[in-house]
Amino acid sequence: MHLDLETRTRKDYIREQKSLHGRKVMGVFPAQYPRELLLAMNILPVEIWDPPLRTREASAHLQSYICSVVSLGLELILQGKCSDLDAFLFPHTCDSIQNLASIVNDYLGIHKPCYFFYHPKAPYKRASRPYYISQLKELKSGLEKQFGELRETDLKRSVDRWEEIRKDISKCYLLRSEGRLNTSNRAFYSILRRVEYLHPDDFHPLLTNFLQSGRTETERQGHGVLLSGVLPNPPEVLDHLDAIGVRVVDDDLLSCSRRFLSGPVSNSDPYEAMAETYFSLPPCSTRGSAIEERLNHILKKIRSSRADGVIFLIVKFCEPEFFDVPILADSLKKEGIPVLVLENEINQALSGQIVTRIEAFAEMLG
Ligand code: SF4
Repeated sequence: MHLDLETRTRKDYIREQKSLHGRKVMGVFPAQYPRELLLAMNILPVEIWDPPLRTREASAHLQSYICSVVSLGLELILQGKCSDLDAFLFPHTCDSIQNLASIVNDYLGIHKPCYFFYHPKAPYKRASRPYYISQLKELKSGLEKQFGELRETDLKRSVDRWEEIRKDISKCYLLRSEGRLNTSNRAFYSILRRVEYLHPDDFHPLLTNFLQSGRTETERQGHGVLLSGVLPNPPEVLDHLDAIGVRVVDDDLLSCSRRFLSGPVSNSDPYEAMAETYFSLPPCSTRGSAIEERLNHILKKIRSSRADGVIFLIVKFCEPEFFDVPILADSLKKEGIPVLVLENEINQALSGQIVTRIEAFAEMLG
């Protein structure tokens, strides 16, 4: 590894990837996309979820009731911080991302290619799988015009590699839910979220090292919660839970388990394998899953991780989550499970009121 990954910035990392490895770099907006395909074409996906910025220029292009994932993503572009990127990818996650895609591609004049990925939404029918594979192939053909031909052997290798990484991510989740991973809430997500921009050559060793060094036979004690919502931001929520001794034992986060913890792959054809991964992902509001299905999934996670309660960390104005969360929260409460719903802007500092609510919630768990 050429970099001290603890201290180097994402920008430095991107520049090194380009200069030392000749990789192209693509800015990818949330949430689900075929990273295996990009990596097989020597394109490094760098995901844009919560850049550490203040909204300055983006407000002029957006309605006031847009989520801060979108406004900060646009701000990143408008402040000229995407100059090292070779292209953008917009998965069809929600109307807000669609809106952003249209602003960036049709109106901003940024002179960077924009790609779109339309994955099927639930309920899945017989045509969903062939449709998904056709979308993968369409994306591949579009990318080939800019980045050169994709060799099937490279795709196969990339799919296998991502499968190995996913297995190790699953092991981290399992050990954590069993209380046998000695890590803080902050450290867990800090390692996991590096998948958002590190190449597998750098991410996988980091992850395996974390897994080996954090493994413990002594079961961790204290109250545990399941974290749901979009992403583990503001990170100060994790810090505060650490400070008061509440462990996050599992999650249902869009940026984390909802796109990483799919079932094992058995198909040797890389496109079929990618489809297998996609269709076995956990239920998700952005993929149109039924609320009952998501509720059952969360209940199963609560049981297996022995979580004492659920914290919904909701990004303000996140439409897909706001359809689900009131019903999920009510249903969980009816099951006798303590629930805390926190609504935040991305990167928002923790107010005294939020701190008090977290502490009151933690007392309820006792
Ligand atoms: S936070 Fe919600 S509304 Fe915003 S981009 Fe993510 S899924 Fe879409």
